[in-house]
Amino acid sequence: MGFDKLLGNHRLRENLKNSVSRGKLSHFYLISGPRGSGKKTLARLIGAAAVCQGERKPCLTCDHCRKVMADTHPDFITVVDPEHKEVPVKMVRAYREDIFIRPNEAEKKVYMFPQELRNEGYNALLKVLEEPPSYGVFMLLTDNPEKILPTIRSRCTELNLLPLNASELLPRLRQAYPQADEETLAAALDRSGGYLGQALELMNQGMEADSQTKGFLAGMTHRDTMALLQALLSMEKWKREQFLSTMNRWAEILQQALICRSGSKVLSEAARQMSSQRSGQELLEAHRCIQKAIEYTQGNVSVAAICGWLSWVLR
Ligand SMILES: [Zn+2]
Repeated sequence: MGFDKLLGNHRLRENLKNSVSRGKLSHFYLISGPRGSGKKTLARLIGAAAVCQGERKPCLTCDHCRKVMADTHPDFITVVDPEHKEVPVKMVRAYREDIFIRPNEAEKKVYMFPQELRNEGYNALLKVLEEPPSYGVFMLLTDNPEKILPTIRSRCTELNLLPLNASELLPRLRQAYPQADEETLAAALDRSGGYLGQALELMNQGMEADSQTKGFLAGMTHRDTMALLQALLSMEKWKREQFLSTMNRWAEILQQALICRSGSKVLSEAARQMSSQRSGQELLEAHRCIQKAIEYTQGNVSVAAICGWLSWVLR
């Protein structure tokens, strides 16, 4: 059955399978767990189970299930505001009207709230929670259930996602990154805290480097000054945010190289190579310069001027 798509969390899956097979899905779920723990995956599976027309719900093969998983089902609604950190209360009020319009295609109408709400937003939902329409299923997602108003929390069925152990996580990572060596996989596993999403993100950062970062690596690892200068030159007209994110990445690589020099395992192959070619003192100095560049960028120094300065101090 579809709930097996969620890794680990055996008890939670068994409980859900039981309630689905008895036709007893709850109206309200509070799904909690840190970043990358599978909150959205779980919410989608519950949403699919609610609208599924197959035998063992969610079958993940019927039209309804597929549409939910592809985010195209008209009765599976994700309430987000990409512009803000929290969903504005105005938006919650607008959806509150929509909730009382019957579903389009399915027998249920499912709302997922992946972003947190302000207290007034939760209060706006409270009326719905007190008297939900029979077809409504609501899922609030949070990294910390303590932040949710007790009046809301007490009405929800709580589902808390737990970290996975290595035997659950490692096969998935290996599947996603078949070329990665065991050491890299193990390091990603260690740093992920047992959450698949974080482990995949770490692998991704470790495996991919943009061309500017490649120039920086060549400059730092092989003392290829031309490559470093070219990288910095090509960044002079960059927007502040883009430049800042690259600087943060370089700082992270240097930090990893320093950790590696102290004898600990690190994820990044690039950092390992750099640490084998440079002294701790050199790495520390470069890290200090990048930190300074980050401060300048956050201040009002132009990106072009910072690039010029870096090409002088990093040479
Ligand atoms: Zn189905």
